[in-house]
Amino acid sequence: MSKGIKMLSAVDAHGTPHTVDGLQRRYDNELAIPGLFCDSPNCGRAVRFVKRHTKNRKDRIEPIQVPAYIGLIRDSEHVLGCRYDAPGRLKLILAAASDPNFMHALDDGKRELRLLILHQGLKGRGASGNATATTPPPTTGSTASRPTGFQATREQLDSYLRTTTDLLALRAACDDDALLAAQLTLRLGKRTVAWNEFFYEFGRYDEVWEKLGPDAPQEMPLALLGTVKSHQPPPAGATYTTTYLNCESQYNRTDDPNRQEYFELSVSHTDANWLRRFAVGTRLIMFGLWRRGKRSETTKPHARDATRMMTYVTHKLSLAPVSKGQLAAVS
Ligand SMILES: [Zn+2]
Repeated sequence: MSKGIKMLSAVDAHGTPHTVDGLQRRYDNELAIPGLFCDSPNCGRAVRFVKRHTKNRKDRIEPIQVPAYIGLIRDSEHVLGCRYDAPGRLKLILAAASDPNFMHALDDGKRELRLLILHQGLKGRGASGNATATTPPPTTGSTASRPTGFQATREQLDSYLRTTTDLLALRAACDDDALLAAQLTLRLGKRTVAWNEFFYEFGRYDEVWEKLGPDAPQEMPLALLGTVKSHQPPPAGATYTTTYLNCESQYNRTDDPNRQEYFELSVSHTDANWLRRFAVGTRLIMFGLWRRGKRSETTKPHARDATRMMTYVTHKLSLAPVSKGQLAAVS
């Protein structure tokens, strides 16, 4: 099981620092890669360089590009308190989340994260940017419309969302799902949800598009990991106040060389300053009730070969957060 956080730097046996980009350059130039050690104070455990590579996907044409990183060698662990110590960070997040309505302790020592509470809370809140206008749900009265018998107040929901995005940011920093899946079960009502049905990184946005289709079995909040590309404030004189945060789009080749598909992610909110806090290039966790937007097609001649008519298909996925706990930068 993978226990570490992907690292971007390490030191060699002489204490000389190496960055992941420098190591990739050494690899590309066929230079030897030195033995590497964790550079967090007092840790120094052996780590290894994993070169940039592609991962093939079943039934899909375009493989996922995996950037280079530095990770633990097999069966090794960072020391307690090391900044790359993923189990330690997970323990801290879980220790702070004690509300059994949201994070329920199971008999086998695992915990269960209850997505239905988040789903209901997010649905019950107003439109983007109107969070302050909503009132907490009444604590008494009819429970007929509340299948769980429990509905979070605004403060509780914000706190659950922060815990969730902290967990997701940790997931994004790790190599894979293994650490979180070993300790946390995701539950939506009666159903257990696999981590890979819940957390989607770049390269899998097309799966999210399919998942949100009209025949989708059950609506649920999803976590997407993207990289901030731009911020788009309302134009001068606009009658609306929404700013859009756009992420790097995913491009898929198709079987037809003259047809390309794009998947675009955007987050909208009226608080432009908040969205701008996530600078261009930031890796961002975006959690909530994603919407499938427009699918548009444009046909025009190829940029370098005017005899080729190209069709570009754009799929828009959007999120309108009702709580600031729904976004978290990956550190
Ligand atoms: Zn370490």
